[in-house]
Amino acid sequence: MNPVVVVHGGGASSISKDRKERMRQGIVRAATVGYCILKGGGSAVDAVEGAVAELENDPEFNAGCGSVLNVNGDIEMDASIMDGKDLSTGAVSAVRCIANPVKLARLVMDKTPHCFLTNQGAAKFAADMGIPEVPVEQLITERNRKHLEKEKAEKGAQKSGCPENLGTVGAVALDCKGNLAYATSTGGIVNKMIGRVGDSPCVGSGGYADNNIGAVSTTGHGESILKVNLARLTLFHIEQGKTAEEAANLSLNYMKSRVKGLGGLILISKTGDWVAKWTSTSMPWAAAKEGKLHAGIDLNDTTITELP
Ligand code: ASP
Repeated sequence: MNPVVVVHGGGASSISKDRKERMRQGIVRAATVGYCILKGGGSAVDAVEGAVAELENDPEFNAGCGSVLNVNGDIEMDASIMDGKDLSTGAVSAVRCIANPVKLARLVMDKTPHCFLTNQGAAKFAADMGIPEVPVEQLITERNRKHLEKEKAEKGAQKSGCPENLGTVGAVALDCKGNLAYATSTGGIVNKMIGRVGDSPCVGSGGYADNNIGAVSTTGHGESILKVNLARLTLFHIEQGKTAEEAANLSLNYMKSRVKGLGGLILISKTGDWVAKWTSTSMPWAAAKEGKLHAGIDLNDTTITELP
């Protein structure tokens, strides 16, 4: 099987040219990390974990350091991961003082009899696993402090409809053995209530992977994604015989028409077809396959380069 990896960096509306360029570089780096893992014989699960951890470490994205702030000016992060081989999955929500929630989600999958740990339980498990505690201030960026202030100042002024968010990260991969996996990680939505959990850690909504069908990671308005189970809905369309492109369009358009939700997704089918689609303004994404790297942020700005 030819290995494939696709990554996304959430939505991205009205951002500066400089920031767009930094996001493009970050997304390309993450896809390259994932692809190198696959080329080195690593599994799809290793590749999505590696690619997503790379993006969590990049302050341009809304995950890990760079997570947006809740109403209290604090960080609560969500992440999930899934192995399409046996449908094993791990997720964490409302975690605070760790650098890489995706790694904790992987440990939940590999080392516990459970699928999902939250809040203090997840924090205790992280400590038990020897994951170093990171002071929350180290995860908070100046940009996100200002973002929260602006959001609070504007609250109620022009907030009708579905808010557009920025920077959640995710990856899907197909390895040489035909195994599929996904991982998604986020700081959620700015100014969220304490304890709000979005779609990203919820299997079926924030992502899904099944070797018999495909793998999906989603981004966008979490409450809308949860209502339509966006990731599993997309794979349902593949099961019904739709192409990757048709399935992505059908499920995103359904979310838009049924609950007025905007978002995006990346998908790899079991045959290695891939797609990156969004109904939000834009979405940083990159895909690596057969030595070529495809990347873009806005509609019709795809670049294709040779991978080293
Ligand atoms: N889906 C994420 C959430 O609602 C946010 C995003 O993807 O931008 O938590």
